[in-house]
Amino acid sequence: MRFCPECGRMLMPKNNILSCPCGYSEEISDDVAEREYKFKGERKKEMEVIVTDNDNVALPTKKITCYKCGGTKGYWWTVQTRSADEAPTYFIRCAKCGNTWRRSN
Ligand SMILES: [Zn+2]
Ligand SMILES: [Zn+2]
Repeated sequence: MRFCPECGRMLMPKNNILSCPCGYSEEISDDVAEREYKFKGERKKEMEVIVTDNDNVALPTKKITCYKCGGTKGYWWTVQTRSADEAPTYFIRCAKCGNTWRRSN
């Protein structure tokens, strides 16, 4: 799975090009596409998943606290910035209102 290093959106490849609405784009090789986007069908049964609005990526739900609506269910993912020695950035999205924010850590 690849995420936009600029804004943290999840990127899905189209003809091996990852492009983001923010303007970022990246070309990936077949190998990378295969490795990063081939999903194994198996998921833990007890793990509740929700599907994001504009793609078909399912992430496990987590307990969060939304500062906007007070919702406690959502999910998060991390984005590794360009320099690998920096800590990854967390993005959190509220399942209730769709509010997405960034948690620096
Ligand atoms: Zn972006
Ligand atoms: Zn919310």
